[in-house]
Amino acid sequence: MKSEVESRGPTSALELLRGVFGYDEFRGQQEAIIARLAEGGDALVLMPTGGGKSLCYQIPSMLRPGVGIVVSPLIALMQDQVDSLRLLGVEAAYLNSTLDRQEAGRVESALVAGELDLLYVAPERLLTPRFLELLDRSPLALFAIDEAHCVSQWGHDFRPEYLSLSLLAERFPAVPRIALTATADAVTRREMAQKLRLEEARWYVASFDRPNIRYTVVEKQNARRQLLSFYREKHEGNAGIVYCMSRRSVDETAAWLREQGVSALPYHAGLDAARRARHQEAFLREDGVVVVATIAFGMGIDKPDVRFVAHLDVPKSLEGYYQETGRAGRDGEAADAFMTYGLTDVVALRRLLSRSDTDDAHRRVEQQKLEALLGYCESAGCRRQALLAYFGEELLGPCGNCDTCLNPVDTYDGTVEVQKLLSTVFRTGQRFGAGYLIDILTGRSTPRVKQLGHDRLSTFGIGADLAAPSWRRVVRQSTAAGFLTTDEDGYGSLKLTGASAAVLRGERKVALRRDPQPAPGVAGRRPANDRRALRPSGPEGELFEELRRLRSELARTQGVPPYVIFHDSTLREMAERKPRNEVELANVSGVGQKKLERYGQAFLAAISVFLV
Ligand code: ADP
Ligand code: ZN
Repeated sequence: MKSEVESRGPTSALELLRGVFGYDEFRGQQEAIIARLAEGGDALVLMPTGGGKSLCYQIPSMLRPGVGIVVSPLIALMQDQVDSLRLLGVEAAYLNSTLDRQEAGRVESALVAGELDLLYVAPERLLTPRFLELLDRSPLALFAIDEAHCVSQWGHDFRPEYLSLSLLAERFPAVPRIALTATADAVTRREMAQKLRLEEARWYVASFDRPNIRYTVVEKQNARRQLLSFYREKHEGNAGIVYCMSRRSVDETAAWLREQGVSALPYHAGLDAARRARHQEAFLREDGVVVVATIAFGMGIDKPDVRFVAHLDVPKSLEGYYQETGRAGRDGEAADAFMTYGLTDVVALRRLLSRSDTDDAHRRVEQQKLEALLGYCESAGCRRQALLAYFGEELLGPCGNCDTCLNPVDTYDGTVEVQKLLSTVFRTGQRFGAGYLIDILTGRSTPRVKQLGHDRLSTFGIGADLAAPSWRRVVRQSTAAGFLTTDEDGYGSLKLTGASAAVLRGERKVALRRDPQPAPGVAGRRPANDRRALRPSGPEGELFEELRRLRSELARTQGVPPYVIFHDSTLREMAERKPRNEVELANVSGVGQKKLERYGQAFLAAISVFLV
């Protein structure tokens, strides 16, 4: 049977949004996209993670007669998506290699009989002759191609099967198609339209701003400790992802966090598949798990309540950074993107670049990407403006929700300091790394300095007015700005560049940022209207915790992740509004008809204890 929504007679998109999903209003362009598909048109949708892409094909699949076929490369996540929809009373199913023959047979007959609203399939299954014949015999509402950037041969998520999806246009010309992605660059856009034969589709491009994510970049001192105090101060008990560069640092960081009492689990390609699956499962299904991972983790993870994403090492590009941090706060609630960044990161990235054995054109592109990333890290202005500018989007004013907006950084004329540094590099023969150069600048006559006679240099001690950490900052910023470069020798020795001469001759001024001195690990006083208090305080907070406990219990007995039952924002609204009956409960955002029937009594009972 198709969902009862249809048997109730014609419904509107808004009725479905309110009755089934329990939301009041459409977000952004959702309504326009839904209307476009409902009337049989094609659409290409670029929306950031958390923008609400799913509703754009789910609702039209329910509005139109027939089944909506959703192509997704992420087999592991189909089940959760389908479970969520079923809890809402939507007739959804999936077909992939995890089903046995009998189960698959049942889904196939439901498909042909037109009993489904939505069917999720992996592309390789969709493209089999057998499945295509099934589709010929089935009533079809639409095709939705999720993660459509997988069609791009230049992207890192390339899936060859996606190229064959163009045959849907020829074989099912009357069925509307929608392709969706959160990857924005212009090349990928063009490839999507061409390769999926969606030249005639209407484009819907949303802003890529994620206003609920607070961006913070701190100077790296002891990255783990900084992470821990950030976690303790703001995210104790919350789910988060911590990215590290190497497998080894993933393992070590996860183990260290566990010693500190954080429920942290490692994830990288070096762990066996069963263990990886277990850790991902725990992250999705249990409250408050922190996954420490290489970038192997995260693609397609659509857990809505990831509260923070931390980078202990600098990511490879701003695109990567945007994708990775985008996994925080899909539910629209306040979330944090936290990065520790230091001189060693700059050195490592520059070395990576100088070693990559690609042609010049490629290297220039990589060079620009690296500059953009360093520019972001060193930015004295609004981080969000810098990030969006990189994606060609202009934010008119500073955002008010990043570290530099909340704790403005001063810049000052650092020309003289940079000159002192550069001439020390020159006078020591461009053979030494930052630590040794700083010894000379600050006038430390270490045995090595004495042995090499560098205590007799004219620059020995000329920087004694600054402490070593401040000199590290000068070295880092000079390197990031391209006045110094690191050798390929692997020892991190610093050399002058073409740009250094103008500074040494005094023809070029250099502005340096004076980093603010926040409490270790965190930047930021909170603005007055900050809704970041995720847990309400006082009795409401207790009720919120109680509702979370109830949710965990229900989730465990039903074998679904907690957020599939209700989101945190819904629980918080319940705690604040304390509904007394089903009518009041139904007014809480995120409570649709089915969930009301299924969970209403349990949650009302829990709330009633807190009513006075
Ligand atoms: P995407 O696929 O674009 O990353 P999702 O479709 O998973 O985003 O939606 C992100 C979150 O926002 C989900 O938890 C979803 O339930 C919620 N959401 C989507 N549309 C609305 C809306 N109109 N009102 C309230 N919440 C919404
Ligand atoms: Zn800002």
